[in-house]
Amino acid sequence: MHKYKNISNGHMINSYESYAVRNPANGDSLGLAPISTADEVDTAVQAALKAQKPWSEISDNERKEFIQRVADVLESNSDYLAKLITQEQGKPLAGPGSRFEMQACVGWTRVPATLELPPETVYEDDERKDVLQRSPLGVIAAIAPWNWPLMIAIWQIIPAIRMGNSVVLKPSEYTPIATLEMVRLINDVLPPGVLNTVSGDGTIGAQLTRHPDIAKIMFTGSADTGRKIIEASANNFAPITLELGGNDPAIVLPGTTAKNIAEGLFWGAFLNMGQTCACIKRLYVHEDDYESVMAELKAVASQMTIGNGMDEGVLIGPIQNRMQYDKVRELVSDARMNDCDVVEIGEVPDGGFFLPITLVGNSRDGQRLVDEEQFGPALPIIQYRNLGDAIASANKLEAGLGASVWANEPDQASETAQQLEAGTVWVNQHGAIHPMVPFGGHKASGYGVEFGIEGLKAVTRPKVISIKK
Ligand code: NAD
Repeated sequence: MHKYKNISNGHMINSYESYAVRNPANGDSLGLAPISTADEVDTAVQAALKAQKPWSEISDNERKEFIQRVADVLESNSDYLAKLITQEQGKPLAGPGSRFEMQACVGWTRVPATLELPPETVYEDDERKDVLQRSPLGVIAAIAPWNWPLMIAIWQIIPAIRMGNSVVLKPSEYTPIATLEMVRLINDVLPPGVLNTVSGDGTIGAQLTRHPDIAKIMFTGSADTGRKIIEASANNFAPITLELGGNDPAIVLPGTTAKNIAEGLFWGAFLNMGQTCACIKRLYVHEDDYESVMAELKAVASQMTIGNGMDEGVLIGPIQNRMQYDKVRELVSDARMNDCDVVEIGEVPDGGFFLPITLVGNSRDGQRLVDEEQFGPALPIIQYRNLGDAIASANKLEAGLGASVWANEPDQASETAQQLEAGTVWVNQHGAIHPMVPFGGHKASGYGVEFGIEGLKAVTRPKVISIKK
């Protein structure tokens, strides 16, 4: 069985311990993933530390060229990596699946390579001039989740190296293989030590994030782990970009034509089988429109084929792991016991962690499926009578990542959008992220933003040169 490897200082590392990674569609073993030791974590950080200074001293233009070469590597290996993502993570090759994830990896690499963060004169008069410049931080620890493993790793890696930092990345223990392969390929066009990996579970993540030579932590994952990372940062004072879980509400305004929005709502909720941070996880619909929205959502859902994502006709794959599969089933059975209208759509293949597309009508606030992040293909639909009540419900949870408002005319949505507590409020779309547009959560969904100029600033430290004239 193939044994995948970490990379440190440009060298492949032969870890002593490893474990089999399995395909969630059929349980097949895909190969062995390494488990780093504490010494290997330290070696990777030291390699990154050694590489960081020379990397920060090359010109900005040279770094941009390196990053464009990284994008070329991602582009030319897209097919190979997309197949690994599908086999390991479960999302289909087709539709908004693993090929789409690879396109996003390329886009989120090329865009930072074109952005500039030049020194800025922040104050000037006859006596003084103050120039704000941005220096790299040093070694960045990047900790990634399993839902969009390559895309999220790229979000963390590329701005960091663009601004002259080096990186030690730890992929999720559920999805290490495609990420390790991506980093191995990228390393062919980067100086050794600029991008390193370690792998294993949360204990390895904890060793990395508390390491004294870590200057910044980029973390995407659950709120519970986020809390532990904040505690770990007390050891090294590393600032953190925390992208945590969401429980995004979508509000359909009264009188909105259901047919026009059904497909957007469907993919807003079921992208990657609902295993997306900024998916619609609660849908609020006016009581007069409830039947038509349910009917149109059922119509879209019944066009989907559920199955092994390596088959081209499949648009809905399995859940990535048993823990998540069991959690979604538990939340749906809780909804069933609470007299919700559970509608299961689609034929589910045997074997693997497959679930039907599940619409849960007559859901109510306070139920587990509404209040907890389901991170799976089960959407609670809640009826409202007054828009104000729907807005209050949308805002009452701790999460504040995304939200959306759906209306016949975008202008009708603006007042409601203003009132929703979330890092991004989309109108007539959901989860429509873009590499130029800052993205991050409010409240328990984290702090800091990624993407665009703001994302570049987040991986630098401001330094002022103040000159007396
Ligand atoms: P998780 O928190 O279980 O794991 C994320 C990563 O943290 C993994 O690599 C894991 O090994 C590591 N980890 C675990 N314990 C650690 C510790 N003590 N110290 C350091 N690292 C540790 O999250 P998950 O289940 O992989 O991901 C799903 C969650 O991520 C969902 O809540 C989802 O909403 C969220 N998410 C958020 C965003 C966003 O941009 N806000 C994007 C994707 C996913």
